[in-house]
Amino acid sequence: MRYIISLLLTSVAVPALTLPAMAEVQRVVTDIPPVHSLVAQVMGDLGQPELLLEKGANAHSFQLRPSQAAGLQEAGLVVWIGPEMTPWLDRALEAVSSAKELRLLAAEGTFRQDFGAEGAHDHGAEAGHEGHGRAEAGHEGHDHGTEEKAEAGHDHAHDDHGHDEAGHDDHAGHSHTGLDPHAWLDPANAGHWLGLIAAELSAQDPENAAIYAANAEKAQADLTALDGEIAALLAPVKDKPLVVFHDAYGYFAGHYGLTIAASIAEGDAANPGAKHIAELEALLREGPVCLFPEANHDPKLVAQLAEATGLTPAGALDPEGSFIEPGAALYGQMLRAMATTIADCAK
Ligand SMILES: [Zn+2]
Repeated sequence: MRYIISLLLTSVAVPALTLPAMAEVQRVVTDIPPVHSLVAQVMGDLGQPELLLEKGANAHSFQLRPSQAAGLQEAGLVVWIGPEMTPWLDRALEAVSSAKELRLLAAEGTFRQDFGAEGAHDHGAEAGHEGHGRAEAGHEGHDHGTEEKAEAGHDHAHDDHGHDEAGHDDHAGHSHTGLDPHAWLDPANAGHWLGLIAAELSAQDPENAAIYAANAEKAQADLTALDGEIAALLAPVKDKPLVVFHDAYGYFAGHYGLTIAASIAEGDAANPGAKHIAELEALLREGPVCLFPEANHDPKLVAQLAEATGLTPAGALDPEGSFIEPGAALYGQMLRAMATTIADCAK
């Protein structure tokens, strides 16, 4: 930041009054592209958040480079989904004593659901998203400490992450149960988080509070418009059975009323076993379904399933935005791309 300020001073053109406000903007670090996008929208012209996940990497099993881990020491704020999504960041944060955290999944008002819950709950999507707290009652057991800003001590409750930390390729201890962390795929959560992000940034940088609030409001308006557009796009294909690559789509399907028939890999995107493959083949032979590869995973498995069952795979889905250029626009681009691909296959 000091570098940028001295650069501006030498270029003279910037009014001196804007400098103190800029100097307050801290380093904000984010975990995955959709979260980075939401934070970038709220920060607007005041600064750029950093994104830890590298392009095309598996969000569940990524490993930070040592320089990235060291860089967390200087972060003023870390905005992330939580340890259920990115156990690698949880481990790195344990070594950092200073960073404030905003854990979105655990935050109050976030709609949370378990893996496999799509269609099993009355989501209230038609009613216009007013029910942010709508599934709270059944999910207390998953609350990883609503104290999302664990300043000291970092009690991350490692016992109940649902992830096998030792190795993501063997499936010991992991199944299609437990809290599903892919909560950003419910745009109602994204909208709620815009407000939380603005509040957290304002708490640390009160001089710019009005700007954060205005940016969040604008982002929310954009999101509401996009949500309506996507709902219309997906309405005709609600009953088409969809087979997806990894168990990431429960929130998206729940919000838009889609039918996920099966996922090839489980919620942490580890490779499936032979028994599960045999079950999938039987399901795919049963009737017309859409079979989706995923952007950052080897398409071989999907190609083999397609060949064995005579299906043509649909376009690839990218639920973690891993192949979209990071930035403020990514969140909307990610949702629109997914909806378009699903609608194209299922119509
Ligand atoms: Zn995932």
